[in-house]
Formats: sequence, structure tokens, C-alpha cells
Amino acid sequence: MRGLVDLHRHLDGSLRRSTVDTFAADLGLDVPVQLPFTPHMGLHAALSRFAFTCSLLQTTGALAQVASEMCEDAQTEGISTLEVRFAPQLHGMALAGAVDAVLEGLGGRAGLILCGLYGDPPALVDALVDLAAARPGVVGLDLAGGPASGHDFRLEDYADAFRRAATLGLGRTVHAGEGRPPAEIRTAIDILGAQRIGHGTTLLDDPTVCDLVLQRGITIEACPTSNWHTGIITDVAAHPLPQWLALGIKCTVNTDNTLLSAVTLPEEIARVRGIDGVGDAEIAQLTANGHAARFS
Ligand SMILES: [Zn+2]
Repeated sequence: MRGLVDLHRHLDGSLRRSTVDTFAADLGLDVPVQLPFTPHMGLHAALSRFAFTCSLLQTTGALAQVASEMCEDAQTEGISTLEVRFAPQLHGMALAGAVDAVLEGLGGRAGLILCGLYGDPPALVDALVDLAAARPGVVGLDLAGGPASGHDFRLEDYADAFRRAATLGLGRTVHAGEGRPPAEIRTAIDILGAQRIGHGTTLLDDPTVCDLVLQRGITIEACPTSNWHTGIITDVAAHPLPQWLALGIKCTVNTDNTLLSAVTLPEEIARVRGIDGVGDAEIAQLTANGHAARFS
């Protein structure tokens, strides 16, 4: 029987708390008093929390263990389709070693998406595509994080890498419109060939971008709790999911990070079920959309 589906879950934000404590003790590191995100903390403050979790994930053994535990946790949550994503360049080792460690941990139980990060040199994203091409367990390419002043590269600069990913049959998703203007969503679709958009919370601000999403059959990976934490929606009840569904936009519900967003998928779905205009039929549609949009 098909279960739940989570297409947007970051490895470095989804460690078990018990594993954080073990790894930190082994490394002689103190765990920050406030590790999970807090409401309205802002995207850049939220992103900075990953620095600590990544500091725990600097060996192949640690990466493989967390990847494996994520699959076990997903099964406990009733998830039958899981796609795990991570940025191999953050783990203090050769990119291939990091990717192979995570693939070993996943053991075929989840698809793997490799993340370039906003501002990364395009050559690095190219290298991720090369790694993906040689590894069937890698199902997609993502661009994560967010734009910042001081970045030398813009979204458009990754066009060649994303085009090559498409040629190789890899799925393409981009964190876009995460509280930022919807033009970013258009760029991700038109220039990078994204089939899925992470967050996309500002989509309704521009009807022409909305039309583009509908025409191309783009799936929006919604992560309402994460959006509440980063302060781009006032609370989960203010998420535009009901309007998206009413317009026929393909959208799904995802956790983003089980540790840092402090949420499981059943909890995330229960929160969405509490939004006005979301009933059992809408929840079933969101799950069906997720299964239909899987890269794996
Ligand atoms: Zn994300």
C-alpha cells in the first residue's frame, strides 16, 4: 500500500536528537542550548543552525549512519516515498566520498538529491551533476540556501549544469520564492528547467508566474512549519496551500528538516489539516501529488 511521501527533507537538518548528542560527545562539542528553529527567526539565522549539524557530519561513517536512520524514521512515520537531499561540499571530504557514504546509508530505501548552494561556483554544481550521472541512486539536483549580498553567482549562472542534469534524466528542483519575489520561481523554471520548486511561498504574488507553474505542471514542495520558523508566513494557518489547491497547482507537504524544524511528516500533515479549506480530500490530493512528482 502506498504511504505518505516526503520529497523535501535535508539530511543535515534531520538527524535524530540522540545521534546529535552521541556525535557531539564523541567530538567533545557542546550542543547549542537552542538547536531547533524558533518561530520567525529569519532564513539566514535558520541556515546558520546547519553549521553545527554539519560539524558533526565530517566522516563517511556519520553520513551513512544518519542517512540510514532517516530511512528508519521515515518508515516509522508511514512514509513509503522519501527523497533525501544534502550538499556534499559541506562535509570536509571529497564530494564522491560523501555521496557514496549517503547512498550506502540509504541502501536504496530513498532517492538522493544533491544540493548546490546559492553562491556556489557553477563548476561545483557541474561536478555534482557528474557524480549523479555515475550513480543511479542519485535522482535529482537542487539549489538550496538562499541568495546573499557578496555571492559572486546568480541563479542564471547554473543554467548549464541544470541543462546537463536534464539531458542526463535527472530531476531538477530549486529553492525559490522562499519569501523572496516570485521572479525567482520564473527563473528557476524558465532558465534552470526546474520541475519542482522548494517553498515558492510568494507564488500568488504574480499571476503570470502562477500561470507558468500551471502550464508546465510544476510541483511546489511546501514546507509550512519551516516557513513559519523562517518568518515568511505568520503561522502555518496562513500558508497559501488551500489557494494553490483551489487553482489546481500541484503541491505537496514536506518537513524540510525533522530535527531543526522539529516536525515529523504526520505532524506536518496534521497542521495542514488544521488550515481553513483543507479537508481529507485535499490531504489525499497533496499526497497523490507527491507520489506523482517523485524523481526516484
Ligand atoms: Zn529546503
